[in-house]
Amino acid sequence: MAGRRTITIIGGGVIGLTTAYALVREGHDVSLIERHDCVGQDASFANGGQLSYRYVSPLADAGIARDALGWLFRPKSPIALRVKADPHQWRWLLAFLFACNRRTNRRNASILLDLALSGQVELQKYRDDGLGNFLWRRPGKLVLYRNAATFRKAARSVSDPERQRALSPSECAEVEPAFARLREQISGGIFSPEDEVGDCFLFCTALREALAAEPGFRFVQGDATLANGPGNRCAVRLDGRPFETDLVVLAAGIASRKLAQPLGINLPLYGLKGYSLTTQPGPALVPSVSVTDYDNRVVYAGLGDRLRVAAMVDIGSENTAPDPKRLGELRALVAETLPGALDQGDDKPWAGLRPATPTGVPIIGRTRYDNLLLNVGHGALGFTLSVGSGLRLKEIVAGIDTRAVG
Ligand SMILES: Cc1cc2nc3c(=O)[nH]c(=O)nc-3n(C[C@H](O)[C@H](O)[C@H](O)COP(=O)(O)OP(=O)(O)OC[C@H]3O[C@@H](n4cnc5c(N)ncnc54)[C@H](O)[C@@H]3O)c2cc1C
Repeated sequence: MAGRRTITIIGGGVIGLTTAYALVREGHDVSLIERHDCVGQDASFANGGQLSYRYVSPLADAGIARDALGWLFRPKSPIALRVKADPHQWRWLLAFLFACNRRTNRRNASILLDLALSGQVELQKYRDDGLGNFLWRRPGKLVLYRNAATFRKAARSVSDPERQRALSPSECAEVEPAFARLREQISGGIFSPEDEVGDCFLFCTALREALAAEPGFRFVQGDATLANGPGNRCAVRLDGRPFETDLVVLAAGIASRKLAQPLGINLPLYGLKGYSLTTQPGPALVPSVSVTDYDNRVVYAGLGDRLRVAAMVDIGSENTAPDPKRLGELRALVAETLPGALDQGDDKPWAGLRPATPTGVPIIGRTRYDNLLLNVGHGALGFTLSVGSGLRLKEIVAGIDTRAVG
């Protein structure tokens, strides 16, 4: 293959793995450095499981700041804000507020939609080529609206009626009987029949297995760091020792910000903490389609015989220790919405940090270093955008002049 490179990817989450898979299938020699001995252990571990290709509108939108203010004082709020004496947090929040207007939201939503849909097509190819089982299904996604005005607005904004339909409460109950008892509480729903679900951790594992069968791939366990190198290059170190490579792709989720700092690159990433619960409540309570309770911002997905529930955006809590109060609030919301789902009392709680940019658009591309590329900042949509982002990165690599990167 012309232009074959040795490429090092830092990060074995869903973004690093999809990037590795795209590059190795293109014929490059790829090393993936991951600090854990297995993949998908951080934000990609127990996320909501939604491949919601049609629901990629960024959180930053007109009116969201007003809504968020209301949420902050509401019990069981989808958003919690802990303001800190941290200039990075303030800068991120200001940039977020700046992006909260209709025009910016529309522009960014269209960028995300392109990325998502290109990934959906590519994922089908990966599956056709025998990618291992990750509990993938295409059951469609149903977004339930309690507030009538919000539902009307959502119904008006359906742009592709072939692929999204506004449903009455009774139609919602037919599409997803597990949530039928909400019929009296909702105003309607939007159904996107082509959206998918899967287990992100199993997807990471399936990718690692597929990569292991590729002669050009190497998994390297260790702690990577970046430093200024000779000329206009950055240097990779593995556990403190030099690690030779033509190109480097930084795809280390929220840790990318710290990794890029010694290079003078100030990535606008903030860790938005979220929670999930995984349980086995019996078939009647495991939804077939993936469901979003829009007003509570809680998502429900059936992954095999398990129910995965995910929610909450906690700003200013940049660690992954589950907060018992927030977990209690999430359990209460699930118990109200899907009674019986948590009755066994054996649900597995998890918390992770969404590596979020203020605009919701990930940073995929080159840097001022000739040999350094970024694939970071996928926020609340990393699973959905992962395959498309790997593909985009591969196209960018194809456009790099080998002589320029040595
Ligand atoms: C509660 C919750 C629910 C979510 N639900 C959904 C959903 O339903 N659908 C969806 O599309 N997205 C969802 N997301 C978002 C999605 O999970 C993330 O965007 C995605 O997992 C980010 O992947 P990543 O590879 O960038 O980061 P990570 O998965 O965090 O991977 C980064 C990797 O880099 C490694 N690393 C870090 N530093 C170093 C170093 N110095 N050396 C070597 N390795 C290093 C880490 O160990 C880690 O494995 C959710 C997120 C949360 C928190």
